[in-house]
Amino acid sequence: MANLDNLRHSTSHLLAAAVSSLWPKSKPTLGPPIDDGFYYDFADLTISEEDLAKIETKMRELVKNWDSFEKIEVTPEQARKEFKDNPYKLELIDEFAKEGQKITFYESGKFLDLCRGGHVAKPKDEIKHFKLLSVAGAYWRGSEKNPMLTRIYGTVFPSQGELDNYLSSLEEARKRDHRKLGKELDLFTFSDLVGAGLPLYTPKGALLRKLVNEHVESIQSKQGYSQVWTPQIAKAELFKTSGHYDKYKDSMFRVISNYSEEEFYLKPMNCPQHTQIYASRSRSYRDLPLRFTDFAMLYRDEKPGELSGLARVRAFSQDDCHIFCLESQVDEEVDRALSMTKEIMKVYGFKYRYRLSIRDREQPEKYIGDPKVWDKVEKWAEKIMVRNKIDHFDGPGEATFYAPKMDLIAQDGLGREWQLSTVQIDFFLPERFKLTYIDKDGQEKRPVMIHRAIIGSPERFLMILIEHFGGAFPVWLSPVQVKVLPITERNLDYAKKVGDKLSGEGIRAEVDERNETLQAKIRDAQLTKVPYMLIVGDKEEKAGTVAKRDRKGKDYGPVKVENFIAGVRKEIDEKSLD
Ligand SMILES: [Zn+2]
Ligand SMILES: [Zn+2]
Repeated sequence: MANLDNLRHSTSHLLAAAVSSLWPKSKPTLGPPIDDGFYYDFADLTISEEDLAKIETKMRELVKNWDSFEKIEVTPEQARKEFKDNPYKLELIDEFAKEGQKITFYESGKFLDLCRGGHVAKPKDEIKHFKLLSVAGAYWRGSEKNPMLTRIYGTVFPSQGELDNYLSSLEEARKRDHRKLGKELDLFTFSDLVGAGLPLYTPKGALLRKLVNEHVESIQSKQGYSQVWTPQIAKAELFKTSGHYDKYKDSMFRVISNYSEEEFYLKPMNCPQHTQIYASRSRSYRDLPLRFTDFAMLYRDEKPGELSGLARVRAFSQDDCHIFCLESQVDEEVDRALSMTKEIMKVYGFKYRYRLSIRDREQPEKYIGDPKVWDKVEKWAEKIMVRNKIDHFDGPGEATFYAPKMDLIAQDGLGREWQLSTVQIDFFLPERFKLTYIDKDGQEKRPVMIHRAIIGSPERFLMILIEHFGGAFPVWLSPVQVKVLPITERNLDYAKKVGDKLSGEGIRAEVDERNETLQAKIRDAQLTKVPYMLIVGDKEEKAGTVAKRDRKGKDYGPVKVENFIAGVRKEIDEKSLD
């Protein structure tokens, strides 16, 4: 991806050049490549998306004279002089100077920018297939204490075909955006009074969340998992012992007591509390493995600028589980977790592969524990992947501070990848909490702790499901499974009878009682993506049938109510995907 990153980064220079030329008083700040393109942040710039076309035109005009990126090494003094009117660049220059880094400018055409390098060789030939996408506000360096800047997003590809493909997938993603569908399908909402990043689930959204969780629970309970329940807050000492206080405090919400000086935190994960259930009594090797599951709410203090729909929230839960076991039991437990995961992914139709999230060996200070144990567990995880014939790849730097992870990366209906499940073999938390069991030989030993989540966070999973299915959930997940549509008011009583019969069979049915035309009723049912519509008029009433229609517009003609119920029941029980 190095070449694509260079292309993206080079195009962000071009964007800055165009904006500086059109709005000479604006101040370019930072412009990195990102996953799908690039952005550039500007101070003292007020524009709207209508201006993007004008900027693009300017970019195409300027790039004609960009033969290369010329590197110019400068002293901090020279750099400060050049950017004397731009406090943002001055801040960067001061930082580089303090760290003793070389300071370089890059010049392309007549545009000069402070930059470390990483560009294409021939900008005028290579920067061709680009598009500016949107304008957003962003705090300088991501902190709300800093001034708000204007961010322009764009994308660029080596060929027009790749750009066109990307733009059409973007259009499809826009249609499926969970924030848009969440509103249209009435699944969740946010309130300024409650706060940013704190989603409120409506009856339909809460139902979806419950169905997803119940499915996981039903599979777990067959596998010997027991549910525990733990409070949302805990003393700082707990997190000091676990290591979260040192490594994670900036992401934790602090809670103040009115009555004591004690320092509390909202918990960002369940693991430390589960160790205390384990430690609450003496354990024998015969008691192990112990498998605790917990769906408690968790809280993380995310940066306000990074909050987005259900993708990044401050309040969420996990289908979390901690297995305390003997070292000799780890393989079997992990294999079971992996096969449960396989079963659940199949139900949703996700393709996936695993990432072995290992240490960043360049930054040992980020991790706790003995490097020898890290080596052992990293190799172990690799063996487990091979033994289970699982497609996997390495992810250096993706480990937690206490253990490497086996992370499932799922691919959704649009080909985008999301991390869902995780399995971690952890020797460190049992050590830090001094957990023990009495072994066969009467000796006290340390158990191993396996951390495991299958769908990860149900809230985030909900977002992925909304976009994966484009809101057209499989029948078992649909908040309303059947809509009964009477043709005239005359047929309302019969429609209600059909509705009651469906409800009596545990099928989620609604009757459209509005005095609207049939066309309007069908259109509205289709907009809310209800899987089945049952149309009832005089003819159906007389024959005791319903006219069945699905959300794709297919007409099935008249069917007996009993037959319809049997068919839908089967689809629900099998969690059928179509
Ligand atoms: Zn650059
Ligand atoms: Zn955990």
